[in-house]
Amino acid sequence: MAWFIAAIIAGLIAGIAYNLRLLTGAAAVTAFCIGCLAYGFGQLTFSVPLVFFFVSSSLLSRIQNDHKAGAVLCVAKPGARDSVQVLANGGVPVILLLLWTYSQEPLFCLLYVTALAAATADTWATELGALSSGVPRLIWGFNKVPAGTSGGVTTLGTFAALSGASIVIALGALFLFLEHGYRLPGTVLLVMLGASLFGQLLDSFLGCLVQVKYRCSACGSTTERKEHCPDRPVERTAGIVAVNNDTVNFLSVLASVAAAGFCIRLNW
Ligand SMILES: [Zn+2]
Repeated sequence: MAWFIAAIIAGLIAGIAYNLRLLTGAAAVTAFCIGCLAYGFGQLTFSVPLVFFFVSSSLLSRIQNDHKAGAVLCVAKPGARDSVQVLANGGVPVILLLLWTYSQEPLFCLLYVTALAAATADTWATELGALSSGVPRLIWGFNKVPAGTSGGVTTLGTFAALSGASIVIALGALFLFLEHGYRLPGTVLLVMLGASLFGQLLDSFLGCLVQVKYRCSACGSTTERKEHCPDRPVERTAGIVAVNNDTVNFLSVLASVAAAGFCIRLNW
């Protein structure tokens, strides 16, 4: 019965996202599978934070203003998210969900929620930060950079990261108590929040220092895309070719999980 409900709800959400062109076809199938696993194995404790992450990120990506329209030109993959982007954020949570299912060890649930909080912090910071009228500054060196540059941070984006991560952690803690009776100490919640923001910070650092960047030979813009102006080549100006935004997202989520796991295991 749980799997039947899971398939209907995940199918509905993935279907709507596909219809709104938030996800490509393959990404919708990937998201459907992750959603089914989350509710089928983890019930509300695992599916509510996941749905919150996905729906809130999708809605925020639809909010537009002039500042954001400028920022979008720099972003590697505009438009519908593809399956690699879904897995860059959802891959680590799925592994933690399976570890929980196998072991019923509460730690894996805490790490799962931390991973989703980190992904939410990153998406909220990106989507809301891009709306900001303030000029972003590079996290490394504090130089002013064009909106949409990886590694650029704004006050609005930082506040958004904190808010998004807090809500995900609160939802995870609430349902962990309601469904499993675990009452998490405030210190554990703070460790989870701290670890997810650490992931978001690392995301900005890696985006700034390691991620590949190109310059368009036609208009001179710095961009993460391999194509910028039509039929004009781009040249690499910084970063490692193999490290794109998806790699950075994946590593940041993984790092926040490692940090949370280390601190929780050390203290409790
Ligand atoms: Zn160009």
